[in-house]
Amino acid sequence: MSALPPHPTAPRTYPRLLSPLDLGRFEVRNRIVMGSMHVGLEDRPAEVKKLAAYLGERARGGAGLIVTGGFSPDRTGRLTPGGAQADARTLRGHRVITREVHEADGRIILQLLHAGRYSFHPLAASAAAGKSPLSPFRARRLTRRGVGRTVEHFAEAARRAVEAGYDGVEIMGSEGYLLNQFLAPATNRRRDRWGRGPEGRRALPLAVAAAVREAIGDEALLSYRLSLLDLVPGGQTWEETTALAQGLVERGVDVLSSGIGWHEARVPTIVTSVPRAAFAENTAALRELVEVPVIASNRIHAPAVAERVLADGQADLVSMARPLLADPQLPNKLADGRANQVVACISCNQACLDKVFDGKRASCLVNPRAGHETELLLNPVIERRARKVAVVGAGPAGLEAALAAAERGHIVTLFEATAEIGGQLRLAARIPGKEDYAQALQSWRMRLAAAGVGIRLETRPTGQDLAGFHDVIVATGVKPREIELPATGGPQVISYADLLEGRAEAGDRVAIIGAGGIGVDVAEFLSAPRPSPTLDVAVWKQHWGVVEADEEHRGGVTARPAEEPRREVHLLQRKETRIGAGLGRTTGWVHRAELRHAGVIQHRGVTYRHVDEQGLHILEGEDARVLEVDTVVVCAGQVSVNALADEVAAARKGRAPRVHVIGGADVAAELDAERAIRQAVEVAAGL
Ligand code: NAP
Ligand code: SF4
Repeated sequence: MSALPPHPTAPRTYPRLLSPLDLGRFEVRNRIVMGSMHVGLEDRPAEVKKLAAYLGERARGGAGLIVTGGFSPDRTGRLTPGGAQADARTLRGHRVITREVHEADGRIILQLLHAGRYSFHPLAASAAAGKSPLSPFRARRLTRRGVGRTVEHFAEAARRAVEAGYDGVEIMGSEGYLLNQFLAPATNRRRDRWGRGPEGRRALPLAVAAAVREAIGDEALLSYRLSLLDLVPGGQTWEETTALAQGLVERGVDVLSSGIGWHEARVPTIVTSVPRAAFAENTAALRELVEVPVIASNRIHAPAVAERVLADGQADLVSMARPLLADPQLPNKLADGRANQVVACISCNQACLDKVFDGKRASCLVNPRAGHETELLLNPVIERRARKVAVVGAGPAGLEAALAAAERGHIVTLFEATAEIGGQLRLAARIPGKEDYAQALQSWRMRLAAAGVGIRLETRPTGQDLAGFHDVIVATGVKPREIELPATGGPQVISYADLLEGRAEAGDRVAIIGAGGIGVDVAEFLSAPRPSPTLDVAVWKQHWGVVEADEEHRGGVTARPAEEPRREVHLLQRKETRIGAGLGRTTGWVHRAELRHAGVIQHRGVTYRHVDEQGLHILEGEDARVLEVDTVVVCAGQVSVNALADEVAAARKGRAPRVHVIGGADVAAELDAERAIRQAVEVAAGL
């Protein structure tokens, strides 16, 4: 039996992150803010108890301050026709939420969000008439009276929130929503008092802040989420942003929360390839100028990074929304010395934001219970009911099944054929921009050890070996699909696994067969600059054209500088559809932009013919072509590896173990870590 490889340890103490802070209206118990993140339950008033359970679990986990998802102050500002609105009926139902959070000594504020031209319905309204790139609906121009009514609606909604027991409200003024639309010359061309120069453009946000402060009284907290960097052409300058910040404080705003980038920005701000704490320096610049506490956000995921942001004086609090989706117990774990056991969010967006943007309920890839707290229960088993469980395969499905079963009290042994845990996730961690995926594996290592899971690396149990277990969970995963490609010399043909594991190397001219998630990843692996820009904030900002937001570069963005291609890369698929069309809503555009930037040559509607001394012969549509490449990397999906399930059944002696097949071993098509992990937890819950 081999020991697990060592891993870097997280700091043991978090003195700054865990210290209380007086926010003027009340004290919060620590500096960890669960920033606003829509999970879909907000849109369904009938499911308010599920929302209360979700938020209550984060309060019990120790979060200092919770900010709800966005609720519109009126019908016009709703994100979707049935989207969340802070109307009287909805907020009366929210008493169950505020009670649950307060019973856990937590603090919670309601976010007021008017979507403006981002609304997906015909009532959409904004500073000027027009359509955003995100919605098919053309917004109408708010009349002067309409602007005044909007101010009143914010104030009335804020008053209702405090009456429902909220400790205050947050005004959403960033990410390109209505108030941000009034602030930017690109979207505010008004000639009346709500436009015409910077002062006019900030008149609405300031009027809203003043009216809300008056409506909520002296005891409630007022937070304002301010766009520190719009990242769209024609956005604000830094000078305008700071003038707004000071005006907001004068009107009674207690806390300024950092927002970065409009939703339509073509610079990524939250995906895993964004460096950790990439925008904390913008928060630090704001902190120099205002007297109130400021909150840093965006890719502050690891507690060690959050502690460093505070230690460096860049912020007073940190927003950790997705990290608390992944692990509601994060603050408690830091407090009682279990930082190494925090469930690491990998910023994949796959089960959270991508779901919400598709109108579904959010959950979390590494924590399927998120958003389903009342439905997916992992109850402890009493000792005499504990079962002997073998889990075979230490990819995401096997790791999570072993962990969930052991945490319930079962006696679990995890077998892995190779010398390392992680399966396909370990390969993903080798892609530039996905370095943080390795964090998830470290977190699993620590939690498996704490849960007492016995781990046998470099071990392939036979059906016979497993006969003594009550349950065998077969999580033996997948192997790369091999394809028919006649070859008579020429380029070497390798699988993506060979390449990413380092068993084979690619030359200077490469063709990639298959443009699914892994084909795109491999294209980036072969073409992205090294070292990975993700590892250096300044390099990454230059890579994406992020600059100072001055008059010349309003919004803080400029054209991306050209970069020398590392090699010639062709990415091919048989389908006629756009390459990368199946990637996530919030991440796919980033990958497509990177492929374009790196000059990856894309081929659609391809038929693969053969390989010879000349290269890879294909038909592109009707045209016969030869790609003169030296390497062909096959990324044509996977096939399940699950023969063990039959072996266990065949080897039965006396009482046979129950066999459960999960993850890629169950379904290889569209191999999906989210589905695999959820299936693992469901199986463990049923043991
Ligand atoms: P995939 O998404 O199913 O793509 C496999 C590709 O291979 C298909 O696009 C298919 O395209 C091609 N193909 C299939 N059979 C073939 C054959 N016999 N000959 C030639 N080409 C063939 O699988 P994957 O790329 O291995 O990714 C697996 C899963 O991992 C994805 O579904 C995704 O959930 C996840 N993932 C996502 C990301 C991301 O979002 N960035 C990254 C990595 C992995 P044609 O049929 O059109 O040729
Ligand atoms: Fe983080 Fe991914 Fe979970 Fe979202 S789904 S919270 S990004 S790990």
